[in-house]
Amino acid sequence: MTDRPNIVFIMSDDHAAHAISAYGSRINQTPNLDRIASNGVRMDAAFCTNSICAPSRAAILTGTYNHVNGVTTLDTPLDNTQWTFVDTLRDAGWDTAIFGKWHLGHGAGAEPRMFDRWRVLPGQGHYHNPVFVDSEHGIDEVGGYVTSLITDDCIDWLDARGTGDADEPFALFCHHKAPHRHWEPDSKHFTMYDDVDIPFPDTFRDDLVGRAEVIQAVKMRMMDLDPIKDLKAIVPDGLTLDEELNWRYQRYIKDYLRVVASIDDNVGRLLDYLESSGLADNTIVVYTSDQGFFLGDHGMFDKRLMYEESLSMPLLIQYPERIAAGGVVDEIVVNVDFGPTLLDLCGLAPPDHVQGRSFAPLLTEDELAEPWPTSMYYRYWMHNDASHAVPAHYGVRTLTHKLICYYNDPLGQPGAQGPANPIEWELFDLVADPLEVNNIYGTPEAADITTELLGELARLQAEVGDTPFH
Ligand code: CA
Repeated sequence: MTDRPNIVFIMSDDHAAHAISAYGSRINQTPNLDRIASNGVRMDAAFCTNSICAPSRAAILTGTYNHVNGVTTLDTPLDNTQWTFVDTLRDAGWDTAIFGKWHLGHGAGAEPRMFDRWRVLPGQGHYHNPVFVDSEHGIDEVGGYVTSLITDDCIDWLDARGTGDADEPFALFCHHKAPHRHWEPDSKHFTMYDDVDIPFPDTFRDDLVGRAEVIQAVKMRMMDLDPIKDLKAIVPDGLTLDEELNWRYQRYIKDYLRVVASIDDNVGRLLDYLESSGLADNTIVVYTSDQGFFLGDHGMFDKRLMYEESLSMPLLIQYPERIAAGGVVDEIVVNVDFGPTLLDLCGLAPPDHVQGRSFAPLLTEDELAEPWPTSMYYRYWMHNDASHAVPAHYGVRTLTHKLICYYNDPLGQPGAQGPANPIEWELFDLVADPLEVNNIYGTPEAADITTELLGELARLQAEVGDTPFH
């Protein structure tokens, strides 16, 4: 055993945990992702601190919340002069590389400068015949399917280092574009699921009665999917509304799952490579996604909201030398904790300004230095963008409850002096109502828990240095 393990950090884009069979998916099988869970641990309460692509990526890299790292929305590139956990790895001698999706800006000041080698998609990139921006070759166009090409790049890079006799450890980041909208499967998966109906989620018919008015107005329902771009079809004539909803769901979810199938195949290739080259035992392999996704849950697609399907990140971690196989961890961890944890497993520590904590002891069953937190803080900053109409909001999730504050503003600008509109709240009892369909905010029986959660929300907001409403 060495105290300088390798890292393979695999992150997909918008892959919900409930489309992974290790998490009990009812709609697909992911045998290769499941290998990581059975070789290591499945984290059951891993959450993003802001359920949207670039902000979550920034939180992971910098170990800080979005109001600190500056990437509150999709519009802000990462100021890459900031510390990232990759810097500490590289300074300590790890060879570092990233292949695939970067999505934190391009050009001077925003490129992946903390990596020795990078080859990334510009912006969202394309599923078929993508262009890459390459640290060695500039703009590079290649034929093929994006998930396979990114995996090829990872394996080629490992191969070029030599198997087992390279002196320094490595940290390899394999960042898939998939399964981000608009879903385009690899040709080998075009007809997968053609002969089956995918089951509907329990809350597919959620009428959202009793919920915040701003939630009832979001544009992420089945009817908001674009038939041509999202569903690659023209809506058949003569469908009732119910029939059209069903048709839309099947078109949507099948392409999503076909795109996921390619991720699973390619993760299998990468795992096979690590095993056959003798690297697996001393390599930490992480599989995660930048956030979750609604798979017809509450009648929705997309993410952004603080509901479980969107808030949850899949998080599977294997490291045979130090993590026992087949474990499940229930403690709440958040994306800002990922970097400090990986550094800890490598015997390294982040600088003091970093807000995330190492959850390595939860994986290795080492002694925790202090009791682990039992709540987390969330904030979505984008307000009422034209495509999704999701309001800015923040909230707290504990082991048993979730309180969400939608601080609405009629002008579309969160007011510096506080909300110009009435605030709307939602409160869910996650034990009695795990599907989050019964908003109990304002009910007499919820009075005590509301007071408690308001206190916890204020405490967390102060702890991370965030300010209400602004
Ligand atoms: Ca994403």
